[in-house]
Amino acid sequence: MSAAHRILVVGAGGLSSPVLRLLSQSEATHITIVDDDVVDESNLHRQTLYGPSDVGSSKIERAAEAVRTLSTGPTVSIVEGRFVPDTALGLLEEHTLLVEGADNLATKFLVADAARIAGVPAVQAGAVRWAGWALCALPDSACLRCLFEDIPRDRIETCAEAGVVGPVVGVLGALQAAFVFRLLQGERPGGELWHYDALRGALRKTFVRRRRDCPLCNGEIQDLRMERYTAACAA
Ligand SMILES: [Zn+2]
Repeated sequence: MSAAHRILVVGAGGLSSPVLRLLSQSEATHITIVDDDVVDESNLHRQTLYGPSDVGSSKIERAAEAVRTLSTGPTVSIVEGRFVPDTALGLLEEHTLLVEGADNLATKFLVADAARIAGVPAVQAGAVRWAGWALCALPDSACLRCLFEDIPRDRIETCAEAGVVGPVVGVLGALQAAFVFRLLQGERPGGELWHYDALRGALRKTFVRRRRDCPLCNGEIQDLRMERYTAACAA
């Protein structure tokens, strides 16, 4: 297993579309895709893995088909359902890397916690309207909670509600794939944060340091209690 790169991709939407295309031609050994949704016409502008004939079909089935067609090596399997606390750690046991393209903050925080507890690198991203970010969190680097502290208690827009511009998720998904390619080569870009703003024309890299009071980095969070992920952001 030492040279095997088994990648878990959470979400099969706008961010994961470019991620999956690019990973299909990577040195990954295996790709597992997790999602519970069907292809919707209103999302085709940003979910570039799918076309009009896929509307109404299972996203993971169509995504797996696309990856199999494009693949120059990696095999692919699917897990129908949401990424949830009950099954997260079991799934991660079988993977060496996690890429997250979820459309809600609750899942993003769950991914951050699960990956850290499992000791697996997590490449995460998010986008709303014309801007977004991509973060590489390694077991010994800063994490999503160092960046955002916690799920906001008040209502916050998901990308489905606020809308997101197709090319913006395309850029961020490609940046996520770049993180994965670097990790596969043995680089360790932990704590690197890329921010992209399409209106200002800015792509900028910063480095996130571990926050001393981060409950994930200081070991306070050691399990995946459902109440941590049910705050405000069910998609
Ligand atoms: Zn942290």
